[in-house]
Amino acid sequence: MHGDHYAADQIHNLSKAQKPLSVHYDLEGIARSVTKEQLANRPSGMWRYREFLPVRKTENVVSLGEVCTPLVDCPRLAQRLNARQLMIKDESRLPTGSFKARGLCLAVSMAKELGIQRLAMPTNGNAGAALAAYASRAGLESFVFCPQDTPTVNVREIAAQGSHVWLVNGLINDCGKIVGEGKEAMKWFDVSTLKEPYRIEGKKTMGLELADQLNWEVPDVIFYPTGGGTGLIGMWKAFDELGRIGWIGPKRPRMVAVQATGCAPIVKAFDEGVEQAALWENAHTVAAGIRVPAAIGDFLILRAVRESGGFAIAVEDNDILDARDEISCTEGLLTCPEGAATFAAYKQALKSGLVSPDEFAVLFNCAAGLKYDLPPVERNLDCNVAIDYEKLKASI
Ligand SMILES: *Cc1c(COP(=O)(O)O)cnc(C)c1O
Repeated sequence: MHGDHYAADQIHNLSKAQKPLSVHYDLEGIARSVTKEQLANRPSGMWRYREFLPVRKTENVVSLGEVCTPLVDCPRLAQRLNARQLMIKDESRLPTGSFKARGLCLAVSMAKELGIQRLAMPTNGNAGAALAAYASRAGLESFVFCPQDTPTVNVREIAAQGSHVWLVNGLINDCGKIVGEGKEAMKWFDVSTLKEPYRIEGKKTMGLELADQLNWEVPDVIFYPTGGGTGLIGMWKAFDELGRIGWIGPKRPRMVAVQATGCAPIVKAFDEGVEQAALWENAHTVAAGIRVPAAIGDFLILRAVRESGGFAIAVEDNDILDARDEISCTEGLLTCPEGAATFAAYKQALKSGLVSPDEFAVLFNCAAGLKYDLPPVERNLDCNVAIDYEKLKASI
């Protein structure tokens, strides 16, 4: 624990020092009030871990049916790489098709509990879609600002789910500035990544759920596509809380922050051995969700990665798209580019020896592959003439 304490059950954004706030629980109280066995008898999904979450009243839970996402074993990919075990936690099954649902489900539930009416955020797409859906579900108003090259389907789903959405000729930090500066005039609550304390608590459930799925064990290494880093920091917090109450042993997974070479501020800071990341100029990558030139939780990401004995690694866009094809054609799982980036990084790390093939690795696919542009299909057949099957065979 560091610095000042702030009371629960009140509205908070950043601390006075302009840093993210972290929610603390009476962990002994949790350990006394619930057992693993009791948990196992509850429905699966993130609300199974109610005691580890800040919402007090059940009536304030804003839910769209958050499922426990499958941990998909990938034996064919593992075999290709001579690796012992590789699994993908497929977060695309969540409401709005991405793991942003976990964070926004929690943030909107807490907004409801605290009486907040109007929410705003900058987004590269998926967070805005989740905010729109959960805010509408709760009867709250939401405002979303996206970089103008955000994937079209994201922008449209945000609008279709009842949010006021604007395209901005800048990057996500420029959008964040609009939200921050409009606070007084618009009377909205800023739900930007880590600028309120609860999205991370929602994302933390990835770690709780993963340990639960592995029978309260953790994998050797986790590859996480890192933008704002909420998920990585959140999982690290989950393992810490589980460890403190003795639900998992002392082993922790090595946490690997995966970024794209066109936007790799965390990788640069990791390599330089510094505690904060400099703003990344001219950020670009096909993996929109990890195009975050400056993360307010940079020091928390770097701390978690280092404490865990992990590392940060950047991959090229070409390798990301090749990885997407390799996963979908080998295992039948269509990932998003950010999810594919973790596989590209895993391969790279195996090659360079940063990861051993004996380590049990879990990769995160964070959004539905269908939300992103796919290569066009340009083979046509005329059904009014006889099909030449020899020619057809030759064309494959
Ligand atoms: C937001 C997002 C990320 C990055 O998640 P953080 O926890 O904010 O680092 C990665 N992939 C996709 C698809 C996203 O939407």
